[in-house]
Amino acid sequence: AAFIRTTVVGGLVRDLALGVVLALLLHTFLTRPLRAVGLAVARIDPSRAGAARLPDFPRQADNELGYLVRRFNEVLRLLDRSRSDMEQLATHDVLTGLPNRLLLQRRLEEALRRRERRLYNPELARQEDPHGRMDRASGRGIALFFLDLDRFKHVNDSLGHDVGDRLLKAVAGRLRDCIGEDDMLGRLGGDEFLVVTENALEAVDAAVLAERLLKALESPLMVEGGHLLHAGASIGVALASEGPPNGDADTASTLLRQADTALYAAKAAGRGQYRFFSREMSERAENRLSTEANLRQALSIGSFELYFQPKVRAADQALVGAEALVRWKHDGQLVQPGAFMTVAEDSGLIMELGSWVLDQAVREATHWTKLLPDFHIAVNVSARQIIAPGFVERVRDCLARSGVPADRIEIEVTESVMVDSARSLEVLWRLKRLGVRIAVDDFGTGFSSLSYLRQMPIDTLKIDRAFVQDLPRDSAIAAMILTLGARLGLEVVAEGVEREEQLAWLVAEGCPVVQGFFIAEPMPARQLEARFLHPLLMAREDGREGRSA
Ligand code: C2E
Ligand code: CA
Ligand code: CA
Repeated sequence: AAFIRTTVVGGLVRDLALGVVLALLLHTFLTRPLRAVGLAVARIDPSRAGAARLPDFPRQADNELGYLVRRFNEVLRLLDRSRSDMEQLATHDVLTGLPNRLLLQRRLEEALRRRERRLYNPELARQEDPHGRMDRASGRGIALFFLDLDRFKHVNDSLGHDVGDRLLKAVAGRLRDCIGEDDMLGRLGGDEFLVVTENALEAVDAAVLAERLLKALESPLMVEGGHLLHAGASIGVALASEGPPNGDADTASTLLRQADTALYAAKAAGRGQYRFFSREMSERAENRLSTEANLRQALSIGSFELYFQPKVRAADQALVGAEALVRWKHDGQLVQPGAFMTVAEDSGLIMELGSWVLDQAVREATHWTKLLPDFHIAVNVSARQIIAPGFVERVRDCLARSGVPADRIEIEVTESVMVDSARSLEVLWRLKRLGVRIAVDDFGTGFSSLSYLRQMPIDTLKIDRAFVQDLPRDSAIAAMILTLGARLGLEVVAEGVEREEQLAWLVAEGCPVVQGFFIAEPMPARQLEARFLHPLLMAREDGREGRSA
């Protein structure tokens, strides 16, 4: 029994010892390393997983656990790379590699915070600006340059998007070369670039940089493929800040909006210029909004009116047509289109207004076209109207309703419409197929290439007032347009004839049709009838009576 007891107890002790040894081995070689790996994994911040790595476990290097750790780290590395790829994509423009709007805005905000810290921490300010040049009263220092290419659309449309892309890259390079090392450059989209500097200590520094940027884009750029292109640009400048520091003028988005408004003003002033944002500009922008509201109301209550300016044959001043010009009856005054056309265009109200003009003009003219065999009515149509869906159908309906023959209607478009896009080309051809006549308005002012004259279904060239003004002294361009018209078999109308000697020159040079204050100013329909139509009809009556007597 003692033997049995010894054997059993011995066996138990041995098994126990074996169990303990096994457990210890298991703990040392499996559980502990697993726990260490587990802890290391648990310490990883999931939102920054890409940057983390598991530590090496030298003793596990050759076993499955070592393999697991290595794979895990590899996955983390891949995660890191795709995260930074994604970050790059989200914050940079793919084409030029420049920071995009998001990143620019973020950096601008940082710059604004730095500036604010300087404003409230004189010691820091002294360190950063030892010579005290920084205008601390106004807190100037940061300047934004909102830059937009003047001729990008044209390049894109005429030479294709490939060349357009290359141009953008070349422009990015040029800009990079002329800004300082700590200045920021980014692309906001399309042909819009933004430069931000924190080193514009005074407004004049910003002006100098704006001029340098413009100059950099003035000289032609050689882009891959051998195209020598003039990009040209306009710039809107905003400074942080003219208002009280910490006022709402200090946010990144306000500054961007101000620079955008200034850009708009620079473009309106004629391209290739820069403008600083001013209070007055934002007032104008507000005015734009209120004008828009007023126009909207005017459309709904019908407070527009059409005036008609006679067009006469130069040789004998016989009436051959009239141009419809819109007027706005507002606050007891008659407002000229110059004061509201841009707002109507920008807001899209031009669509509704344009439809009204077309219908009204054709309605008034129906009677006149019946009385005079070669009378035509001219209607101005803006680029925006031309490319809007349904324009051709609207013209066709208007013709059908009025019964006026299509060739008695002339659509006046500016040269910019001609070169704008394939879309406007197509629309003009469809109008031509309806039988409508097409005139190029303000001819000679818009575009330097004449090749479009061959692709476009044009009937008439209207010599811009600018070239009629200086007749007969300065006549080279007017003469050239007359020759061009004759050679291409186009009708030519001289606009803005104000003086007798201008008319005399035009008659002598064989200009077929003239229009201008010297003949008659734009007038209401009834007045046109009284002054031009009735005398003509009376003369006709007299002629008939004379013959029959
Ligand atoms: P536009 O088509 O070049 O029209 C000629 C402008 O010159 C008219 O100004 C006319 O009144 C003015 N004018 C005519 N003869 C003379 C002259 O001898 N001397 C001078 N100094 N000016 C003369 P208005 O009516 O103020 O129109 C300005 C512009 O507004 C027009 O230029 C046209 O582009 C646009 N517009 C007018 N009505 C419409 C319309 O119904 N639709 C569209 N889309 N645009 C219109
Ligand atoms: Ca016109
Ligand atoms: Ca004109």
